[in-house]
Amino acid sequence: MFQKILIANRGEIALRVLRACKELGIQTVVVHSTADADAMHVRLADESVCIGPPPSRESYLNIHQIVAACEITGADAVHPGYGFLSENARFSDILKAHGITFIGPSGDHIRIMGDKIEAKRTAKRLGIPVVPGSDGAVSDEREAKRIAAEIGYPVIIKASAGGGGRGMKVARTEADLEVALQTARSEAGAAFGDDAVYIEKYLEKPRHIEIQVFGDGMGKGIHLGERDCSLQRRHQKVWEEANSPALNADQRARIGAVCANAIADLGYSGAGTIEFLYEDGEFYFIEMNTRLQVEHPVTEAITGIDLVHEQIRVASGAGLSVTQDEVRFSGHAIECRINAEDPRTFTPSPGTITHFHTPGGLGIRVDSGVYSGYKIPPYYDSLIGKLIVHGRNRVECMMRLRRALDEFVVDGIKTTLPLFRDLVGNPDIANGDYDIHWLEKHLASQES
Ligand code: ADP
Repeated sequence: MFQKILIANRGEIALRVLRACKELGIQTVVVHSTADADAMHVRLADESVCIGPPPSRESYLNIHQIVAACEITGADAVHPGYGFLSENARFSDILKAHGITFIGPSGDHIRIMGDKIEAKRTAKRLGIPVVPGSDGAVSDEREAKRIAAEIGYPVIIKASAGGGGRGMKVARTEADLEVALQTARSEAGAAFGDDAVYIEKYLEKPRHIEIQVFGDGMGKGIHLGERDCSLQRRHQKVWEEANSPALNADQRARIGAVCANAIADLGYSGAGTIEFLYEDGEFYFIEMNTRLQVEHPVTEAITGIDLVHEQIRVASGAGLSVTQDEVRFSGHAIECRINAEDPRTFTPSPGTITHFHTPGGLGIRVDSGVYSGYKIPPYYDSLIGKLIVHGRNRVECMMRLRRALDEFVVDGIKTTLPLFRDLVGNPDIANGDYDIHWLEKHLASQES
């Protein structure tokens, strides 16, 4: 097992990882920018190293500084959290070259999944169902038209290097295709420095359902069920739940087994998430994230398994603590992402939190790095906390969530709490009856 882990992240996830390390009796080092000197994880860590000024590229993305911090403090492993360097294959390779363990998959696996065309090809080869579309990049308009005619309109043009919902364009008819292709290509070139694009069938009313997987790097793979993340705004997840209101135990076991087998075949090591669009009973692979996800606590709530403990175990060579047969799903969990944003316009609302009171009681978990008097720096993501509620079934979970939201107080800044108070009382949400467009439509209807 590791002696000392360096946490290369900030905010709630840095604290989350720190807690897991403490439980396992592992020493912690955190790195931070000058803007985060007062952060909770910095106060609670055994050691901290300031690695640069506020902008991420000069601190949290600065590989040299982070490697130097490992060497100075004698850390033997790095947990990257999510975002920042968590899906950076070069970072994984550089750490390895320095004899430091990256708590995550190999650089090669990160690379394959980071290229969406390569990821889709790999998924298909491993027996994972994919969205019908081009086999690889499309080179010109003629080819695009031929493929679109084959799979049928509407189609979506997507950037191979894509991420964060950028570089995607929908074409409803052949007449739209030329413009969509050109726009997607130039957006992709500008945003990612790579203008390769591919075509997929556009699904009209899918849900976003993702499967949590783990590989032990020694040929074993397991799944921990799904999360339904269909409630999104601008392709950003807002509310996540497990189980999905749309799946039954049979469907879960079937798609879960497909994913677990694929992970085993790949020889994958660590936590991963295989993301699907789900429509009319069919799953369609869209991408795989090779890291811990923001929404991992809903899986922890229904399985009782600490995903960060498992990541650390696997990276240290100790293997997984559970077999597939030992994984049990119990009850229902919902996570609300609480952002420092205006709940109507979603513009960031940094500033000082004058009062912070979190709800408590059975089935309530709050993961957050903030406190009363904390000044939110304007440089980073606006997520300030996550409320995760567990109940024996979805009805009890929703009742508890409503109560917890009433109790939650964040003064001094604007937050998205009012949005969740609205959602928890909505009949469609109560019925679990929503797709990936539901939230945008709901927000638009409130504006008019
Ligand atoms: P990114 O990596 O940019 O987040 P994804 O491939 O994960 O891109 O897709 C992001 C979102 O775009 C999905 O959650 C879904 O809302 C939408 N999307 C992607 N592919 C399709 C498709 N074939 N049909 C309909 N919607 C899609």
